[in-house]
Amino acid sequence: MASTVPERPHAVLIPIPAQGHVTPMLKLAKLLHSRGFYITFVNTHFNQNRLLRSGAISSLDSLPEFRFESIPDGLPPSDEDATQDVPSLCDSIPKYCIAPFRDLITELNDPSSPTPTVSCIVSDGVMSFTLDVAKELRIPEVLFWTPSACGVMGYLHYQHLIERGIFPLKDASDLTNGYLETPIDWISGMKNVRLRDLPTFLRTVDSKDIMFHFCNRAAQRSSMASAIILNTFDELERPVLDAMASMLPPIYTIGPLSLLSRQITTSPLTSISSNLWKEDPACLEWLQGREPGSVVYVNYGSITVMTNEQLIEFAWGLANSKHDFFWVIRPDLVKGDSAVLPQEFLSETKERGLLASWCPQEAVLSHPSIGGFLTHSGWNSTLESICGGVPTISWPFFAEQQTNCRYACTEWGIGMEIDSNVKREEVERLVRELMEGEKGKEMRRRAVEWKESAIRATQPGGSSFQNFDRLVKDALL
Ligand code: UDP
Repeated sequence: MASTVPERPHAVLIPIPAQGHVTPMLKLAKLLHSRGFYITFVNTHFNQNRLLRSGAISSLDSLPEFRFESIPDGLPPSDEDATQDVPSLCDSIPKYCIAPFRDLITELNDPSSPTPTVSCIVSDGVMSFTLDVAKELRIPEVLFWTPSACGVMGYLHYQHLIERGIFPLKDASDLTNGYLETPIDWISGMKNVRLRDLPTFLRTVDSKDIMFHFCNRAAQRSSMASAIILNTFDELERPVLDAMASMLPPIYTIGPLSLLSRQITTSPLTSISSNLWKEDPACLEWLQGREPGSVVYVNYGSITVMTNEQLIEFAWGLANSKHDFFWVIRPDLVKGDSAVLPQEFLSETKERGLLASWCPQEAVLSHPSIGGFLTHSGWNSTLESICGGVPTISWPFFAEQQTNCRYACTEWGIGMEIDSNVKREEVERLVRELMEGEKGKEMRRRAVEWKESAIRATQPGGSSFQNFDRLVKDALL
C-alpha cells in the first residue's frame, strides 16, 4: 500500500544584504532548520560571492535541506570586499529585487522543482517589497525586524514626524543649534528620549530623502505581515514592546539569537557562518595571554566610516589610557582612503595593543579578558556585548544606533556616550572610567545582570525560548 510522507515545511528567508541583517537572519534559518524546516536562504549575488570568498559558506547546497540562492541587487557588479553604499542599495532594492524574487519563488514552487512547496516567507522588515510577492503568490509572510525594539519603534513613528512637521528639518542649522535636543515625550513606551535619539534618517532638509522614506515605508507596511519577529528579550525592552503590541501583528521576541541558537541548533549547520570578511582567529590566542577584564575591545561594525583624523584621535586616546586594547580596523573603515596610523602610536603600543581587520566578535566579547567595548552600538554588537556581560563606550554612527546608545546609557546602565566630534582626551578619560572607575564597575555589574537575564530568557521555559516555539507552531507551520 502506498504511503504518503508529509512534505517538510519550506521557509524562504531573505535579509537585506548587510552584515548586521544577514547574521541574525542566518541564525534564525539554522534554528528553523533544526525544527524540521527545509530552508532556502536568499542573498544578493554580491553578498553570496563575498560569503563564498570569506569562507563563511563553502558551497551553496552542501547541507541536506539547507540551500543558498541569490538574486541581483540592481547595483553595478563589483568584486570588492567592501560595504556597499547604503542609500544606493535602499534605492535600488525595491525597484530591482521584486521580479527576481518572484521568479525564484515561482521556480521553487514549480511542480518539476525537487524542493518542497514554499510554505512561508521570512523577510527582513526592511525588504518590504517581499510582502507584495507573498500576497500575489498567497504565501504567508512573517517579518523579521533585526534592530532593537526601541529602534523599530522609532521607525514606526517616522510617519508621525511628517504629520507633526518635524520631518524634513526646516533648516540645516537645526542639526547644530540644539534643536535635536528637543524632548520627544509623545511616543508611548519610550521615555527620556530626544529627537537626536530617534533613528538618524530624519536629520535632513531633503523631503525626498531615500533612507527616511525607505524605512518609513517598510515600517508602515509591517501591518501586512502575519507576524513580527524581534531579536530582543522581553525583560530588556518591556515598555516599548508593550506599546508596540497594539501597533503591529503578533510580535515574537526570540533574542538574543546568539544565545537561543546555542540552545537549539544542531551540529551539521555549524560549518556555515555569515561573515562577509575573513576572520582573523589569532586574536583569541592573544587574548588568552591577558589578565581577566583587562582588554578594551574596539570595533565599529560593518558600515561605520570615519575620517583619518577621527581614527587618529581614537588611537591616541587608547594609547594615552595605558590600557591593553584589541582594535579591529576594517579595510574600508576610513572614508575614501585606507587607514593610516602614526608610526609613533604603533611603536608605543606594540606590547599592549593588537590590530586586526575583522574578528570572530561573539567569541571575542565572551572572552574573559575583555573588560570593555568601544562600539558604534549596532544592535547585534549591543546584544553580543550584553551576552558577554561587557559594558560599553558608544560612538553611534547612524540609523537606530543612536537609539541603542541612549537606551544603553540611560535605561540599561551599561554604556557611556562619546561625543561625535571625537577628541583623544575624551577617549582617554572614558576608557579609564570604563576600565578603572566607579562608574565602569557599576556598568559592569549591570551588564552581568543583563547577561543573566538574557540567559534566562533563552533557556527552556524562558520567554524567548517559549516565543520561538510559539512562532514555529502558530505563525510558520
Ligand atoms: N562582526 C564580526 N567581526 C567584526 C565586526 C563585526 O563578527 O570584526 C559582526 C558582529 O559580531 C555583529 C555584526 O558583525 O554580529 C555587526 O552588526 P551590528 O548590528 O553590530 O552593526 P552593523 O555592522 O550593522 O553596523
